[in-house]
Amino acid sequence: MTDRYAVFGHPIAHSKSPAIHAAFARQTGQDLHYEAILAPLDGFSASIAAFMAAGGRGANVTVPFKEEAFRLARRLSARAERAGAVNTLSFGGGEIFGDNTDGAGLVADLVRNRQRDPAGARILLLGAGGAARGVIEPLLDRKPAGLVVANRTPGRARELAGLFGPGVAACGFGDLEGRFDLVVNATAASLAGELPPLPADLFAPGALAYDMMYGRDTPFLAFARTHGAATADGLGMLVEQAAEAFFVWRGVRPDTAPVIARLQADAC
Ligand code: NDP
Repeated sequence: MTDRYAVFGHPIAHSKSPAIHAAFARQTGQDLHYEAILAPLDGFSASIAAFMAAGGRGANVTVPFKEEAFRLARRLSARAERAGAVNTLSFGGGEIFGDNTDGAGLVADLVRNRQRDPAGARILLLGAGGAARGVIEPLLDRKPAGLVVANRTPGRARELAGLFGPGVAACGFGDLEGRFDLVVNATAASLAGELPPLPADLFAPGALAYDMMYGRDTPFLAFARTHGAATADGLGMLVEQAAEAFFVWRGVRPDTAPVIARLQADAC
């Protein structure tokens, strides 16, 4: 019988995950079906329970349910525990296992697809929400020269940095000082077509500006280009976090390069 998986979110119609997982399944010869399911805002856990009862084997979770998925999981991976959010659920023996593959997805995109290993880099992470929280530990694992979290609400940045010890500094946008080799935009500002108020001299020579948002040019990427930085959007992260989830479920690692290339071509 074909194994069933799904991504749950609200909204969800825009999701590229069904196409990505269908491509992975074809490539690796795995017999699975993956669909997008719109969960009511007050009905996430009921939607998951119904999917499990119907034989679902696993699920991805996106906005706004990642923290609810964290609370729903009976068992958590270490990385999900540190992230405080879950984007990948596995159902086995009636138990719910929660994992978080977002950070691994970002690091894989940087290292494998962009040849930008964060090792030794001065990193600035913009934002202190779920996405920022999920990527801090995987970035620290690469041994950067430093990591600063800057957020519109500085208190949230300080609270987040405090979870990771003295290796992570925190501030508001107005207090930013110094130059960075890698600037990751994990704010939702791009969704609103806005640019966080950043200093013009933020980028070190040869810096990369990475916007987790994908599918359109953003004010952040335009700002970075104006100030001499190379740019990347979050499409590679999306595909890499999906590949990591696929590996969690199936024990098989798909080749992401042709899938990223296909999505980039479709976007043109
Ligand atoms: P959250 O709602 O958890 O956090 C939002 C963050 O953005 C907060 O730090 C908030 O600051 C900040 N923010 C919101 N609006 C503005 C603004 N106008 N100016 C400056 N800062 C702002 O969202 P997530 O962390 O879940 O997601 C953030 C982004 O990352 C989204 O665009 C999402 O699509 C993207 N993402 C991409 C992934 C991928 O695979 N490519 C994976 C996961 C996320 P404050 O604390 O002050 O409210």
